[in-house]
Amino acid sequence: MSTTHRPYNFSAGPAVLPEEVLREAAAEMLDWHGSGMGVMEMSHRGKEFISIHEAAEHDLRALLAVPPHFKILFMQGGGLGENAIVPLNLSRGGQVDLVVTGAWSKKSAAEARKYADVAIAASNEADGHTTLPAAAGWQLRPGASYVHLCSNETIHGVEFGALPDLAALGSDAPLVVDCSSHILSRPIDWARVGLAFAGAQKNIGPAGLTLVFVREDLLDRALPICPSAFEYKTVAAHGSMFNTPPTYGIYIAGLVFQWLQRQGGVAEMERRAIAKAALLYGALDGSGGFYANKVAHDGRSRMNVPFFLHDESLNEAFLAGARAAGLLQLKGHKSVGGMRASIYNAMPIEGVQALVDYLNEFARRHG
Ligand code: PMP
Repeated sequence: MSTTHRPYNFSAGPAVLPEEVLREAAAEMLDWHGSGMGVMEMSHRGKEFISIHEAAEHDLRALLAVPPHFKILFMQGGGLGENAIVPLNLSRGGQVDLVVTGAWSKKSAAEARKYADVAIAASNEADGHTTLPAAAGWQLRPGASYVHLCSNETIHGVEFGALPDLAALGSDAPLVVDCSSHILSRPIDWARVGLAFAGAQKNIGPAGLTLVFVREDLLDRALPICPSAFEYKTVAAHGSMFNTPPTYGIYIAGLVFQWLQRQGGVAEMERRAIAKAALLYGALDGSGGFYANKVAHDGRSRMNVPFFLHDESLNEAFLAGARAAGLLQLKGHKSVGGMRASIYNAMPIEGVQALVDYLNEFARRHG
């Protein structure tokens, strides 16, 4: 590699982290702030780790303007774990309405069926998960315990620009949002949310940490079979220390939150995300059909951009050339094929520009 920067990493997750954060963590690996211990070696109940944890939670609350009546929980289990943990805590074994917009919400529906009576309120499956089903047409049941959606479908690249106002749709059910793959890239309208969760391994930090934001009035609904370590009320009552939390993940997340603040916070991340997405979609749309992203314009994700080469026999050559150009992990998810560029907060616009230059050059050579 002749470049002076690290390769640009377009993985959907675990994904690129800010280089500054990685360097900070490396410098503190053996001795955190003169404590004589690395963060992985600290008791989660010691004053050192408690200060790391408190700062991370404080900064996250500020970054996303999380209101005081929401608890922030640092948990384990990942996104798929939450697909079980949410119905165990919120369904009361009753009705759950689910909006399917891609692979992840489909999985959520399948898992919730183990605990609740699940109905699909709307689905874009018929068009291959390429559109956003208009909220006005959702079939919401009056007695539903909650309504679940995935606000950014990482595999299919479909993102909600705004969260639905369930009350305006005649439902008083709380909205549950899986925002794993675009958290901290845009503000969250908390007035419309009952619970939001996110695996850390895209926009936050290492896999293993899962963030849960839960409205306090929803804490008291868990089914008796819910494991204590996954019961939101129990986890909240212990300040996310009922069991040993994923300490190193929380530490890295805290460094990422500080980095985000230095960059200008979520507003700046959103501004950059809009610019990066416009650059990349513009190149795909302007390629004269050499490349295609199939998602309807109003549903296109700013974070995950799946695309296809018109001539798929060139896929291997495209990926090999990309790797040689320092553009890593562009292969699409196995369930959809093609390519996918994930352009999370830590991807600089220079990385997207390098990808666009490569897209143009490859199309010129093979078009
Ligand atoms: N939801 C979304 C939106 C995701 O992108 C992912 C992971 N790619 C998951 C859930 C599942 O997360 P995990 O692998 O941490 O269970």
